[in-house]
Amino acid sequence: MDWGSVAPNDGHRALVELEKRGKLDLLVTQNVDGLHQKAGNSAQRVVEIHGTLQEFMCMSCEDRGPVEVVLERVRAGEGDPPCLECGGILKAAVVSFGQNLFPGDMERSIAAASTCDLILAVGTTLGVFPAANVVPAAKQSGAQVVIVNGSPTEMDDLADAILRGSISEILPSVVGTSTPN
Ligand SMILES: [Zn+2]
Repeated sequence: MDWGSVAPNDGHRALVELEKRGKLDLLVTQNVDGLHQKAGNSAQRVVEIHGTLQEFMCMSCEDRGPVEVVLERVRAGEGDPPCLECGGILKAAVVSFGQNLFPGDMERSIAAASTCDLILAVGTTLGVFPAANVVPAAKQSGAQVVIVNGSPTEMDDLADAILRGSISEILPSVVGTSTPN
C-alpha cells in the first residue's frame, strides 16, 4: 500500500476555511486517510470514527503511535515488527468491520451534534451505523441538516437542504472558497 500519495482536495480545504472562521465545532469523519488534518483542520476538532491509517495500534495492549515508526522498522529489516511494549501484533489503527469503535468517539460526536446549529453531512450515504446517528441527533436538537452527496442518502427525508454533486465543487462554492477558472 502506498500510504502517502493521496492529497487533500478543494472539499477538504473548504472545511479548513470553516474552522478558520470559527464555524466548525467538530468534524466527524469515516475516512481513515488523515487528509482533514493534512489539509489543515486541527486534530482536536477531528474525530476519526473509523480510526486512521496514519497510526498503528497494538492488538494486545492498545499502544498507539505514528505508523511511520513501524514503517521505518520494516525498512530497517524487521519483517513483521512486534509491539515494543508487550510483543503483541501491530495493525493499522482502524476499526474493522464488526469491531467496536474507539471509546469516547461516538459520545463526543453525538454531543457535538446535539449542540450545533447546522450539521453538514458530506460524502456519505448515511447508511453506516452508529456513525450516521449524528444526523438524527442533530435534527432532534433543532439543527438544520444539509446533505452534500453525489447520490441519494438514507436520510434525505431529514434534510433541510440537499446538494447533489461533486463534493470538491459544492463545498468550496458553499463556503465561498471557489477559485475562478
Ligand atoms: Zn502491545
